[in-house]
Amino acid sequence: LDFQPIRAPRFSQIATFLRLPHVQDITGLDIAVLGVPFDGGSTYRPGSRFAPREIRQSSSLMRRYNPVLDVYPFKDLRIADAGDIDVPIVNIEEALSRITAAIQTVVEAGVLPLCVGGDHSISLPILRAVARRYGPVALLHVDAHQDMWDDTFGNRYTHSSPFRRAAEESLVDFQHAVQIGIRGSLASKNDLDFAREHGVKTISARSLARLGPVELRNELAFLRGRPLYVSFDIDSVDPAYAPGTGTPEIGGLTSREAVDVLHAVLGCKIVGADIVEVSPPYDHGCVTAVLAANILFEIVSLVAASRRHIAHQGP
Ligand code: MN
Ligand code: MN
Repeated sequence: LDFQPIRAPRFSQIATFLRLPHVQDITGLDIAVLGVPFDGGSTYRPGSRFAPREIRQSSSLMRRYNPVLDVYPFKDLRIADAGDIDVPIVNIEEALSRITAAIQTVVEAGVLPLCVGGDHSISLPILRAVARRYGPVALLHVDAHQDMWDDTFGNRYTHSSPFRRAAEESLVDFQHAVQIGIRGSLASKNDLDFAREHGVKTISARSLARLGPVELRNELAFLRGRPLYVSFDIDSVDPAYAPGTGTPEIGGLTSREAVDVLHAVLGCKIVGADIVEVSPPYDHGCVTAVLAANILFEIVSLVAASRRHIAHQGP
């Protein structure tokens, strides 16, 4: 897995995430990028089962060096495409337990799981595996929605509920959690109460627009020094930049703001991450898949830059 210069045109060969080597044995990696092609938790427009393949394809565009973070992630860290987790199509509880089992193997090997969904229901089983190793984790959740809904037509496990279940199962340290990008119409005035009662910090899309990068970094400083999970729902970004998603909401982040949010946690101890809710059937000209590919590159760059930052300056 030595750092390889680019030898073939980016549109050639078999597509993997970020043109990384494909491995079946994750031993010795720093980061395993895994596809989780499951959208059985979608409550409105499905299609995110097709996202891992589409993002692999679109991520061929990504290059090697991140000029903003001044890092070569593939040189500094051992990163590979570990393929997709095999998940059943319909049975959601079985799907969740298979995801937990797969991620547990990754986490126990000391490898950081970076998962490409799939809908947001996949974050719960990932967090179950991550919390088993690290205890309740700090959380950066970038999303238009809080995903703390209790029950959807009798279903407790959907993409609307992962962080409600995570709260009940004590997988997240909600005193060190933030939800960024929240907006849109709600079912009732009380929808935001659950997060408020659990002490979750919320930065709406509207408030984020008023924060500069330095202020944002200060707002997120409370996440530092503890194991942090990053969950990035592509619908946090405005439908103008991310039309290919199941539950679009107007008034969202620009693609540049989305990257700024990730850079604002530089120096945090990231132990896992996901990118979810890209739905290729609703995409146009790969706009959303290209954005997701860039977010993927920014997350691996952020992990590399953060490890360097911690090594030089401490947590
Ligand atoms: Mn979500
Ligand atoms: Mn969402």
